[in-house]
Amino acid sequence: MILDLGFGLLLGVLVNFVFQIKDWRVIALGVSSSLIVDVDAIIYYFLNGRKVDKYFYRHRDIFHHPFFVCLLASLILAFINPIYGLTWFIGSAYHFLHDCFEGWGIRFWPITNCYITFRNDSPKIIIADKQDQTDIVDVYGDANWARKKYGEFNWMFAFEMAVLMFGTMAAFSQFGDAELGFSVAMYELVLWSFWLIYLHITRLNKNLEKFKRDYSM
Ligand SMILES: [Zn+2]
Repeated sequence: MILDLGFGLLLGVLVNFVFQIKDWRVIALGVSSSLIVDVDAIIYYFLNGRKVDKYFYRHRDIFHHPFFVCLLASLILAFINPIYGLTWFIGSAYHFLHDCFEGWGIRFWPITNCYITFRNDSPKIIIADKQDQTDIVDVYGDANWARKKYGEFNWMFAFEMAVLMFGTMAAFSQFGDAELGFSVAMYELVLWSFWLIYLHITRLNKNLEKFKRDYSM
């Protein structure tokens, strides 16, 4: 999600640069096309009893449909403005491709019910249908995926933050305020640091409680 936001900002900056324009809508379209389908994660979270378990990938069945979101939406936007259509196409195509590496499949519904995934822990690339997907996740899914992704320090998390900060600075620089861009990027870095410190303290507390329980202090 953080990587998608950074990518969207960079996409908007790049499209503006290539076409020698300075349109804030291109930045907004870059960000929204790279992010918006993940709104279904929020919907699914509340519909599913606020659980983020190994079956959380099912949120993608709500809005993650490249046929509508990538192809049809880009075509419609292209009639309004071809640059907007192109930006939307690249941003949404990037999102679905990114999800193919992280999620348990994206499908070109309604043309096919098969899911495609490029995860290296998936036993197959083409998953036949929802039942096949569930059978695979029963065995290969990880209940702690969210904690491993954003609930502790890891280099992928650091890379995602770096892309976000770089995208923020690039977008502000394009609109003539590099200094403000640097400040906003520093705030992002501070927020990330606070998040990591918060996680660290929470973990320390948990360990302390466990220690007290184990030695009945
Ligand atoms: Zn997604």
